[in-house]
Amino acid sequence: MTRSPDTTRATKAGRSPAPDGVRTPTTNVWHGADLLGTRGVPAERLRELLTLARARRESPAKSLAGRTVATVFFEDSTRTRSSFTIAAQRCGADVVDLSSKASSANKGESLADTARVIEAMGVAAIVVRTSRAGGAKMAADAVACPVINAGDGAHEHPTQALADALALDDAWNLAGSFDFGGKRIVIVGDLSHSRVARSNAASLTTLGAEVVFVGPPAMAPRSLGGALGVRVSHDLDAELAEADAVMALRIQLERGAGAMLASSRDYRSAYGVTQARADAMKPGALVMHPGPMNRGVEMDPAVADGPRSIVIRQVAAGVAVRVAALEAVIGSTAGNA
Ligand code: ASP
Repeated sequence: MTRSPDTTRATKAGRSPAPDGVRTPTTNVWHGADLLGTRGVPAERLRELLTLARARRESPAKSLAGRTVATVFFEDSTRTRSSFTIAAQRCGADVVDLSSKASSANKGESLADTARVIEAMGVAAIVVRTSRAGGAKMAADAVACPVINAGDGAHEHPTQALADALALDDAWNLAGSFDFGGKRIVIVGDLSHSRVARSNAASLTTLGAEVVFVGPPAMAPRSLGGALGVRVSHDLDAELAEADAVMALRIQLERGAGAMLASSRDYRSAYGVTQARADAMKPGALVMHPGPMNRGVEMDPAVADGPRSIVIRQVAAGVAVRVAALEAVIGSTAGNA
C-alpha cells in the first residue's frame, strides 16, 4: 500500500505497527497514525474512516473515556474547533482547548516545542491548526501521540474534506458506498489559498469523482490544477450544466486574496453561485460551502438556504468524521490494542 509521507503515517516512533489493509478492524486501521492530509491516502483508508463516522453517528460510543484530547489552534476558527470539541466529548474524552492567545507559540516558542509540552501533560492526541503549511507535520514529527491536522495554511484540511464526502454520500443516497464514480464536482473560488480545495481534490478524486477547479485566473491558476491532477476552467457558466455538485469557497482576504479581486460585485457576477446559476444546474445537483461564507458574494443567501444546499449537512457531517478521526488515531478503549 502506498502512503504519502506528508499526509498520513502508519505509526509513530516507539509504537507498535498499526495493522494494515482492509481486512483489519476499522478502529485499528489508523491507530497510532497521524491524520495530516488526504493526498496519497488510498480509497480503502478513506472509506474505513467514513464508514466508522457513519457507524458512530448511528450508535455513539464512549470509546475514548478517560482520554484527553488537546485542540491547539494558532489561527481563528469557530466551527472546526467546536466541532472537534463536540466530537471528543461525544466519545467521552476530556478536551483541553488552547487558543493562540493562550499558547506560548505567539511568544516565539516553536510549534514543535508547544506540541512536546502539551504531550508531556499526558494527552492522547493533539488537534492542530496553524497558518503555516506543513505546520501540522512539524508538530506530528515532534511527538509520539497522534496529531490531527485541523488546517495548515493553504496546504490541507483533511477532516473538512472527509465531512464533505460524508455529506455528499448522504445527499446522493449512496448508503455508505462512498463511490463517487460518474459524479462531477466543481470547486469554485479562491482555490490558490484553499486547503479545503486541496484536500477535497485528493479525496474526491480518490473516491472516483471528477473534480474541476473554477475561478479567475489568479485564484485558479492552471499550474495548481496540473499539480493536483484536476482540470481548471475560468468559466463557471460553462461548467454548471454538467455539475453534480458545486462547492463554493471563501475569498481568503487574510491570505492576500484582496489583491486578486477587482470588486466583490465583479466576483459575484463571474463566479458567485447566484440564484440564476443555481437555476441553471441539473435537477438534484447540490451546492456546498465549507464556511465561513461571504453571503451575497460567493453564494446568494437564497441559494445557501435553498433546496440544493447541503451547507448545514456539511457542518453536521464534520462532527461525525471528527468522532471517527479521533477514535481511529487514538484507538478506542473498547478493546483495541
Ligand atoms: N473553514 C475552512 C478552512 O479553515 C474554509 C475557510 O476558512 O474558508 O480552511
